[in-house]
Amino acid sequence: DEDDEGGEDRPPVITVMGHVDHGKTKLLDQIRNANVVAGEAGGITQHIGAYQVEKDGRLITFIDTPGHEAFTAMRARGAEATDVVILVVAADDGVMPQTLEALDHAKAAEVPIVVAINKIDREGADPQKVMSQLAERDLVPEAWGGDTIMVEVSALENLGIDDLLEQLLVVADVEELTANPEGRAMGVVLESHLDVGRGPVATLLVQRGTLKVGDPLIAGAAWGRVRALVDDHGENVKEAGPSTPVEVLGLSDVAGAGDDFVVAPDQKTARSVADQREHYQRVASISGTAAVSGGGMKLEDIFAQIQTGEAATLNLIVKADVNGSLEAVTESLKKLERDEVKLAFARRGVGGVTNDDIQLAVATNATIIGFNVRPDRKARELAQQEGVEIRTYEIIYKLIEDIESAMVGMLTPEFEEVVTGEAEVREIFRVPRIGAIAGCYVTNGVITRGSKVRFLREGTIIWKGAIQSLKRFKDDAREVAAGYECGIGLSDFQDLKEGDVIETYDEREIPRT
Ligand code: GDP
Repeated sequence: DEDDEGGEDRPPVITVMGHVDHGKTKLLDQIRNANVVAGEAGGITQHIGAYQVEKDGRLITFIDTPGHEAFTAMRARGAEATDVVILVVAADDGVMPQTLEALDHAKAAEVPIVVAINKIDREGADPQKVMSQLAERDLVPEAWGGDTIMVEVSALENLGIDDLLEQLLVVADVEELTANPEGRAMGVVLESHLDVGRGPVATLLVQRGTLKVGDPLIAGAAWGRVRALVDDHGENVKEAGPSTPVEVLGLSDVAGAGDDFVVAPDQKTARSVADQREHYQRVASISGTAAVSGGGMKLEDIFAQIQTGEAATLNLIVKADVNGSLEAVTESLKKLERDEVKLAFARRGVGGVTNDDIQLAVATNATIIGFNVRPDRKARELAQQEGVEIRTYEIIYKLIEDIESAMVGMLTPEFEEVVTGEAEVREIFRVPRIGAIAGCYVTNGVITRGSKVRFLREGTIIWKGAIQSLKRFKDDAREVAAGYECGIGLSDFQDLKEGDVIETYDEREIPRT
């Protein structure tokens, strides 16, 4: 349940992203070394895939796998582990292709971004240029009246790191991050491997509740009982609360990064849930569909969307050969939007369809549209493996026609109701073992066996269901028309009264024009 009652403040969970060589790893190392929470073992950190540091008496959790590949792979499995993204941009190099990719991924995940302008110690460092490059992409620095926090740092010389941590806490406060530390723990698998001596080892990030030694656990399709918990100092601990990364021993198997985990009521339940999951994963891999835990949108979200009558959204990634055609395609697509189906562009870009496009498509459940461009072989293979749809076109009206029909297909059909018959209850017969039979006179239309029926008493609907049996005198009848008498039996409605009105009706789909 999503009930946040009993929610208490929890540390923010941070992922570092940015272009290769811009200093992500260096930054993570520097933060860890300078600010690690002093543990009994003298603060020496163990690499377990995530760590916590302390700043002004508060904890911050860092995921120790930089880059958007890991981030996207997790999201593709439905995991929302990150609260804030640090986008690292080297001040001497400026905004580069992977800076923009990272930006797209963070935006798609709706995660707030703090920019670390790194390598300010370097000759030729130009933080102002980085700011204006980012401002062009809707990341306007606070200093210029925007709302993106940008901090100048040097990971190499340990400059500005304190300020960066402080700013992360500011963002965390705005986000009001809370979780209930009570109850059965749940969260996500950050990484998992098979250790020769210790068996399957998984690093988990607890998101709610408190994980304890001895808990029966399901993680992805693995299960077991928590034999030991090891924190980021390599120390054994008894329990781990929200936002805490912890290594777990005792699972039956390795789990995938991004798989969810949850503490089960007992070990038997853990095992049977894990077995079921494994079964579904096998089915999915045989039928060639995307992994069950992946494939973008989570079922709950879809149900929620249907229930609230919220508009459906068709997520798209549009790639085109040149800027001009990209503009033309997006403009025409935007005109297709309607109240029931919205379009969302996870990315619009010039150039061929790349691996990163596929990864973003998986994370956002998007369809990729290529105009005068093609996917390369690697992208095509990945798309196939992940079940991502790529549609390529060379004629714009074909493209538009196609997407329009896809949008119509997304609309749930509309039904209209047609009243097909009406009858009046004149007498009630109680038949042993069968129940009440309504002796009726058909006043309108035709009453048909099996049809949907409503019971009205003084104009108010008192029951809805289906006609179970229909008889003319002693014989079964398929239908009885107006002007005739009949006996109507209803399986589980017995509270009949003389004078009740029975209305039968049909629903038919309204064709769309
Ligand atoms: P990543 O690929 O983004 O993880 O980048 P790395 O952290 O591996 O850094 C790439 C290179 O840049 C390494 O040689 C680092 O030592 C260097 N580097 C990282 N941060 C700084 C910095 O603030 N100043 C300078 N001068 N060099 C840096």
